[in-house]
Amino acid sequence: MTNLVVEEGRVIGADLALAKEGPFGAAQPIERIAARAVLIASGGAGQVYSDTTNPAVATGDGIALAHVAGAELADMEFYQFHPTALSLPDAPRFLLSEALRGEGAWLRNDRGERFMEGVHPLLELAPRDVVARAIAREGIAENGAQRPVHLDMRHVRDIDLHQRFPGISAALARYGLDLARDLIPVRPAAHYLMGGIRTDLDGRTTLPGLYAAGEAACTGVHGANRLASNSLLEGLVFGARAAQAILADALPLQKPAAAPPAWQPLSPAEEQQVESLVGELQSSMWIHAGLLREEASMRAGLEDLSACEFRLREISAARGAQPAPSSRRLSEAHSLCHVARSILLSALARTESRGAHFRNDFPHRHDESFRKHSSFDRDRNVRFEAW
Ligand SMILES: Cc1cc2nc3c(=O)[nH]c(=O)nc-3n(C[C@H](O)[C@H](O)[C@H](O)COP(=O)(O)OP(=O)(O)OC[C@H]3O[C@@H](n4cnc5c(N)ncnc54)[C@H](O)[C@@H]3O)c2cc1C
Repeated sequence: MTNLVVEEGRVIGADLALAKEGPFGAAQPIERIAARAVLIASGGAGQVYSDTTNPAVATGDGIALAHVAGAELADMEFYQFHPTALSLPDAPRFLLSEALRGEGAWLRNDRGERFMEGVHPLLELAPRDVVARAIAREGIAENGAQRPVHLDMRHVRDIDLHQRFPGISAALARYGLDLARDLIPVRPAAHYLMGGIRTDLDGRTTLPGLYAAGEAACTGVHGANRLASNSLLEGLVFGARAAQAILADALPLQKPAAAPPAWQPLSPAEEQQVESLVGELQSSMWIHAGLLREEASMRAGLEDLSACEFRLREISAARGAQPAPSSRRLSEAHSLCHVARSILLSALARTESRGAHFRNDFPHRHDESFRKHSSFDRDRNVRFEAW
C-alpha cells in the first residue's frame, strides 16, 4: 500500500503498487482500490533505528500513510528497546531472549563487573527499560568510544543450555559462540513501538473510514512500557474488535478518482543514494532519539532529518515524480522520515522521563503534567491528554 485515498474527510480507498512483472526497469502500475473501510495492520517501525530486532519491512509505512491522510498518532516517543540483542559487526541484531536472564545469565562490563548490582535490586531481572539503559550507559567509554557488554551464562551448570535454548544456541553457533563457554556480546536494540496510529478500543482512528490494529496502532493499553509478550494478545483482541467495528459502522462504498500514474523505477545509482540516506537517518535516530535523550541532541536529530528529507525530495524531483515516490525503497524512506519526525517532536515535548522514554535533562516523572498520552496531529503539534 502506498497511499490512502481521502475524500471529504473520510478514507474511501487505498493505492497499491503492484509487484513488478516484466523486464527489469519496467514501470510499476498503481492500482486504486475502493473500500468502505481500510484497516492498517502494517506493524512497527524499528527500521527507523540503526539497531533493531525488527525485520526489514518494519518501516512504519502504515503509520506514516495514516498521518499524511489526516489521522492522529499517539505516544510516538515511547519506543521500547530490548536490552539484549547480539552485538557483532555485520551480524543482525538477533534477539537474546529474557529467558536467558530468567535462567541465571549475568551481565558483565568490559572489566568483568556485574554492573546491574549498582543499578536495581532485581539485578539482571529489572524491567526492560532499566536494563537497556544500564547497558547503554556501560557501553559508552569516557572518550565516547563503544565498550563491550556481555551476557555470561558460564556459571549456569544445572541445566543443559543447548537443550533449553536450541534456537539461540544454533544462531550463536553460526558466529562461533557457545552459551555454555563464551561471553556473548550484547547491546540494546529498538524492539517495539508502544505508540502508533491513535485508536479507540474498537480500532477506530481519528479519521473516519480508517481503522488500525496491532503494532501500528496505539490503543494506549501498553502505556509507556509494554510488558513482554502482550503484543500477540493485542493483535488478536483489537484486530477482532476493529473488524466488528467496521461491520457495525457499515460505511458506504464510494467511487474514488482515477489512480495516480505508475511508479517509474529508480536507477541502481539512485537506489544506492536512497539506501545510504536511510542508513544515515537510522544512525542519527539511534544517537539522537535512542535510549538516553536530551533536547540539544534531539534538535540536532531534527536537523539531520530535514537534510535527509531534502535529499530524498531531490531524488523524486529529479525523476519528475514529485510528490509521489517512485520505488518501494524511496517510499519506505519517506515513511521512516515521517515516523522519525513524530518520534523526535513527541520526545521533545515530553519534558520528563517515563517508561521507555528517558531524558538526561528531565530524569524524573512529572505526573501532574504528563500522566497523559501524547497526540501528534496533522499539523505536527504535540498535545497531552488523559484518555
Ligand atoms: C524478534 C522479535 C521477537 C518478538 N517476540 C514477541 C513475543 O514473544 N511475544 C509477543 O507478544 N510479541 C513479540 N514480538 C512483537 C510482535 O512480534 C509484534 O509486535 C507483532 O508481530 C506485530 O504484529 P502486527 O500484525 O501488528 O505486524 P507484523 O507482524 O509486523 O505484520 C505487518 C505486515 O504488514 C506488512 N506491511 C508493512 N508495510 C506495508 C505496506 N506499505 N503495504 C503492505 N503491507 C505492508 C509487512 O510486510 C507485514 O507482513 C517480537 C518482535 C520481534 C521483532
